[in-house]
Amino acid sequence: MNNPLPENPSDPCEVLDRIFREMVDKGFHVPSANYFGLMNPTPTYIGVMAEALVAALNPQLATVKRSQIASKIEHETVRWIGERVGWLKSDFSGTFTSGGNEANFTGLALALAAKFPSFIDDGAVSTGAQPVFYASGEAHHSIDKSAGLLGIGRKALRRIPVNEHIQLDLDRLKQAITNDRRLGSLPFCVVATAGTTNSGAIDDLVAIAEICRQQNLWLHVDGAYGGAAVFSDQHRHLVHGIELADSITIDPHKWLAVPLAAGVILTRYPEMLERVFAVAAPYMPKAAEARGIDNSRISTQWTRRMNSLKLWLTLEVHGRQAYEEHIDHQMKLAQSFVTWLKSSVYFELATPQLLPIIAFRLKPNGMNHEQLASKHAQIVDQVTRDGTRWISETRVAGKSVLRMMVISYLTEEGHLTALQQSLESVATALIHGPGQGATAPL
Ligand SMILES: *Cc1c(COP(=O)(O)O)cnc(C)c1O
Repeated sequence: MNNPLPENPSDPCEVLDRIFREMVDKGFHVPSANYFGLMNPTPTYIGVMAEALVAALNPQLATVKRSQIASKIEHETVRWIGERVGWLKSDFSGTFTSGGNEANFTGLALALAAKFPSFIDDGAVSTGAQPVFYASGEAHHSIDKSAGLLGIGRKALRRIPVNEHIQLDLDRLKQAITNDRRLGSLPFCVVATAGTTNSGAIDDLVAIAEICRQQNLWLHVDGAYGGAAVFSDQHRHLVHGIELADSITIDPHKWLAVPLAAGVILTRYPEMLERVFAVAAPYMPKAAEARGIDNSRISTQWTRRMNSLKLWLTLEVHGRQAYEEHIDHQMKLAQSFVTWLKSSVYFELATPQLLPIIAFRLKPNGMNHEQLASKHAQIVDQVTRDGTRWISETRVAGKSVLRMMVISYLTEEGHLTALQQSLESVATALIHGPGQGATAPL
């Protein structure tokens, strides 16, 4: 991929052959059943169709007037998600985003606008002191980024250590709020995570909501991945309390298995979305001309593609019940992997398993953190080397873990068994020396 810019046309079949060879034959296959990776799914077929349709029809979501049906479908999809959260139709608003990053950014902007009414017009300086907010040490880095971009500075984020369940520690949260107030800073928000990226931990949403209520803080729940549990009747309890949030991030392009990109921000304070984003401009149709809220008044984006059709079509074609089964199936596979870990000679669960994300490790047997981390890196390297499958190494609360998650709806028990065999065989060779594991398939 080091060619000069093409000046002249080429035969499209030849070019497509070339790109297929690169991207299909040699590419990294996120939609594989053996991708135990980060949160990118195998997209639904109808979702892929939706993407082609959207590309061809090219609806411009900025204004209702120029997108009509597309905007209506989008509003309906947002409403379905909010109703699954447990909110009443008339009480919330939201919009599709490019993903969790933009949704979290928006959630923090809403929090600032709600707690400091002149923030949007007059800027951070109008608050008179340093606004600060809280999230666990395991929360996603998009909130650091957002704090920087929103002008309150990355240091405004107080990262609160986690407890043994990898949840934001509530006592330390309360202490930090008290300390900050005493020092003259202005606490305005808590970002609770429903499904951390590293290990799938879920903060105590009900308790955090109560602290936010007492302390007059905005509660944003980052459920980019785990928030989708609201689509399951059986597993909804995992994110119990999510309905108490002031704003919520849910990414359909994660657990709901639609193609990239689709995130959603929802809020119980529709007027805050407009406070943050509505700007008048002469080329915009007057509000009175159109029915329904223009996306540009509630979103960071102006020109925006239709990110909702792939979810809308998936729901229309398969029904919510398909997500019920999809989520349950992945939960069962995760539990089966945990059962295997319990019987494993070499490996053990490193953090509690709640969602289909499993943080595990070599049994330390006297190894220190650094030795363990280095062994984990070697294991990942060897298990993934031939390109059959993908797992990763990460750190939870500072400690090295191996990480796998079930994210593809194509993944079945057999894929887990093959991964387990590969892990056992690599660990045998690593611990007892080369030759020992060589007969087992890598
Ligand atoms: C993936 C993720 C994000 C970021 O979402 P993108 O869609 O990748 O921008 C934010 N928070 C959590 C907890 C995530 O897992």
